[in-house]
Amino acid sequence: MTAYPFDAPESAALMKRAEQVIPGGVNSPVRAFRSVGGTPRFIVSAKGPWLVDADGRRYVDLVASWGPMILGHAHPAVEEAVREAAGKGFSFGMPSENEVALAEEIVARVAPVDQVRLVSSGTEATMSAIRLARGFTGRTLVVKFAGCYHGHVDSLLASAGSGVATLALPDSAGVPADSAAETIVVPYNDVAAVEAAFAERGDQIAALITEAAAGNMGVIPPEPGFTEALRRITREHGALFISDEVMTGFRCSPAGWYGLEGPYADGAPDLFTFGKVMGGGFPAAAFGGRADIMALLAPTGPVYQAGTLSGNPVATAAGLATLRGCTPEVYDRLGVVSRTIADAAAEALTAASVPHTVQWAGSMFSVFFREGPVRSYDDAKAQDTAAFGAFFHAMLAAGVHLPPSAFEAWFVGASHDDEAVGRVVEALPGAARAAATATS
Ligand SMILES: *Cc1c(COP(=O)(O)O)cnc(C)c1O
Repeated sequence: MTAYPFDAPESAALMKRAEQVIPGGVNSPVRAFRSVGGTPRFIVSAKGPWLVDADGRRYVDLVASWGPMILGHAHPAVEEAVREAAGKGFSFGMPSENEVALAEEIVARVAPVDQVRLVSSGTEATMSAIRLARGFTGRTLVVKFAGCYHGHVDSLLASAGSGVATLALPDSAGVPADSAAETIVVPYNDVAAVEAAFAERGDQIAALITEAAAGNMGVIPPEPGFTEALRRITREHGALFISDEVMTGFRCSPAGWYGLEGPYADGAPDLFTFGKVMGGGFPAAAFGGRADIMALLAPTGPVYQAGTLSGNPVATAAGLATLRGCTPEVYDRLGVVSRTIADAAAEALTAASVPHTVQWAGSMFSVFFREGPVRSYDDAKAQDTAAFGAFFHAMLAAGVHLPPSAFEAWFVGASHDDEAVGRVVEALPGAARAAATATS
């Protein structure tokens, strides 16, 4: 088992308190450090690329709130927008202009998206997109890929990545068998498996949903031609194609993964889901796509979907300021920071003879603790998670907070300056040596 290089008494005390009143002490499972062991750090403040924990230690943040903090924490322009919006009231329950402006910003960036409906989480976005696809097609079944995570929607928790992967739960209890039976799970990057699923039950399939580029089982980009094949197969069978860009959206490029890989000769996905970056750290997400499909939503159509806090004025102000702050320079910086850190990680792991591979989706990357290529969830699961645990704790001791799971992307922001990047680069050789000793 991993030795923890240093303890964190204040965080440990807070965790004890938390465990009394919150299941497992956390409000989202992967925060609990279960797969790496030890005490999760309670964060008291964050600025730019830095986190400060309850024990007063500073860390370079490579979690970025799991993606949203693309400009860094408490970015001045976003903070200003939030203060200004909050000064005018917190929630109206009536329409407001920020909602329109954020929708316009998304529609302007992602060409195939004619309209969006704003919601408060990525889970709500995918759940609503699935309902809309079912309403549009009059069919029930959904096809998803093993290891792709689309939030904790009942029918989408079958063989999901993210926290489900981290905890090695094949599924979730509490999901009715009928719900799970509505989902067909196929291996990622396997066109033949998709074709076989559609050949068998194509006339009952409402939608295929995929992560635009997989990021919740570590980063596994779609192989060349894979997305096009999904477009072709779904169209042939009258099913909708939903591209989940909750993680990749506005991160991989100004128009997300679609902006890197699209437009496609066979046409675009019908629906898209967004979250994370577009909320700027606040609860804002969206689903959108073809106008004729979106017209089916209430109040214009029969598919019901709603939210008391949907389009919240403070959240939309934060999202808008964040997207407007995502300039070409920001994307350039993400590329440089990612490349510098990934190259240094690969070099350190190679020097310590730790099997590994780095995989990319635009500037989004992750490190698998096994030789590559990693094409699927089965491949991802075959990595050395014990080596990762030792690596993680050595990085933490050196002041770098990685995602506490081998199945997550390492998220950087444009505020990672040379000092922050330098801290990461310096920490890597020692962490790689720690991983080498933990490898079975
Ligand atoms: C994070 C994520 C979700 C879920 O979003 P929440 O806001 O956590 O509900 C859905 N899909 C993908 C691809 C994600 O990365």
